[in-house]
Amino acid sequence: MSFMFRKFHSVIGQHHKRITVFTLHQLRMDRVPAATAGVTRNASSFKHENAFIDGKWVPAASGKTFQVINPSTGGVIGSVPDMDAQDTEEAIKVAYKAFQTWKETTARERSGVLRKWAELCTQHKDELAKLLTAEMGKPLAEAAGEVAYGTAFIEWFAEEARRVYGDIIPTTTNTRRMLVLKQPLGVAGMITPWNFPNAMITRKACAAIAAGCTVVLKPAEDTPYSALALCELASMAGMPPGVLNVVTSSRDHAAEVGKMLCKHPLVMKISFTGSTQVGKILLEQSASTVKKVSLELGGNAPFIVFDSADVDAAVKGLMGCKFRVSGQTCVCANRILVQEGIYDKFVQKVAETMDRELKVGDGFEDGTTQGPLINSKAVDKVQGHVDDAVIKGATVVRGGKRLDGNFFLPTLLSHVTQEMRCSSEETFGPVAPILKFKTEEEAVAIANVTSSGLAGYFFSQNLSQIWRVAEQLETGIVGVNEGLVSVPESPFGGWKESGLGSEGSKYGIDEYLHLKYVCMGGI
Ligand code: NAP
Repeated sequence: MSFMFRKFHSVIGQHHKRITVFTLHQLRMDRVPAATAGVTRNASSFKHENAFIDGKWVPAASGKTFQVINPSTGGVIGSVPDMDAQDTEEAIKVAYKAFQTWKETTARERSGVLRKWAELCTQHKDELAKLLTAEMGKPLAEAAGEVAYGTAFIEWFAEEARRVYGDIIPTTTNTRRMLVLKQPLGVAGMITPWNFPNAMITRKACAAIAAGCTVVLKPAEDTPYSALALCELASMAGMPPGVLNVVTSSRDHAAEVGKMLCKHPLVMKISFTGSTQVGKILLEQSASTVKKVSLELGGNAPFIVFDSADVDAAVKGLMGCKFRVSGQTCVCANRILVQEGIYDKFVQKVAETMDRELKVGDGFEDGTTQGPLINSKAVDKVQGHVDDAVIKGATVVRGGKRLDGNFFLPTLLSHVTQEMRCSSEETFGPVAPILKFKTEEEAVAIANVTSSGLAGYFFSQNLSQIWRVAEQLETGIVGVNEGLVSVPESPFGGWKESGLGSEGSKYGIDEYLHLKYVCMGGI
């Protein structure tokens, strides 16, 4: 199938920098060859049009479907079942039944299945990456990076499955022995967002499955295909039916699917990644059955550059931290605070680096670094933040406006103040707003003023300052002279309204385990 693209230029910023934008008007699954028989698989052959429950590909009981749209072209990629509360309840019952046998498997058996799953994901990494770019829009190189990152969580929890140790407590009475067992919780309900359609699933589901739990997962409306492809590979790896179930639903049914997961008595755990607003609803709904809840919610990350910083390293750190996934990550720098001594130099260098390194376009085009935003609502929000900043006195140094379709020019704003929306709300787009500060105390106060507390970053070469600020930032994650810090080995979780609990690391599996104190008497 051929495709056409329209190429146009946009004048941005005060230097009239010209950025080339490709807007594709046809479905880009044309880059994903049609299914063929034989051993060699291609991305289309991983594109499933049914949900995955009890090891089978199933439609919604209602027969309803919804379309999945490529955010770059606006083209329809395909359609998947639009499931509702009834389908979700069915999946919960299946997962509960599967739990009765999965919890009896040994850690070594669960580890083996996970390891095989990781191997298959590595074997099919190119197909998974293409599917991800087609449904989410991120550049293919970033999609490949996410698949590798997602697979690393499967490997990590394959290893962690074998390290769930209980405790023997020194006895208080000679006739007693006291111990602590760790046992799987049961069925875990999960809801994931569109910005990491692969890794947000493996980070949660593999911790649960490694612990001996079973899973019912609802992926975002925008990105169900990556979730379904992971199911196929899990099944190929020997994951028994019912251990991993994916219920697809449109935005119209998201609330009822979520409510069923939160309120159903057979579900023992809710794990959610998404907006703080929805996280609060789920937390409230889970109260009725007193479920254990993990929440990975929105951020508003400060990125502080002190006078003592290596400015080039800070610029490099900011480029990755701000513009990865077109600014659509929860740990993206949202407010950039720069000390007055280096403010002008820093703004200038960031602008020059943006000119040199950023290219807006379709995720499948060579050299694209900035794909589309997920949908037009996201573009409206980003434009709203820029317009609000400009009205309140910010200077547009680069970009500042939407392009055709869901694209937005990478934007640099200077003279930003705390009163602007881009300072107080998560923008979730390619906008770098730069505020000026005088003292370390002032920077830390501004950084901590928000109710979010996910990630924070700062650049400094002063050792005392590094210790002080790392300890003072009220965030669950701190990057010191680093803009990209997430790895499966380290805990990922927010403070304040950014969440509850941790994912990844040696702590992640605990979220899916009960502690049981056993006291043996009459010894
Ligand atoms: P969202 O609207 O909260 O959606 C996330 C998921 O929740 C989607 O699957 C969505 O389904 C579902 N959902 C929406 N309303 C629901 C409801 N009433 N009940 C149950 N489920 C519901 O978030 P988003 O805007 O798509 O994602 C971006 C947000 O996620 C940002 O705030 C970002 O910071 C946060 N995030 C956090 C982390 C982290 O680890 N802390 C990681 C990534 C993203 P539909 O797609 O069908 O609407």
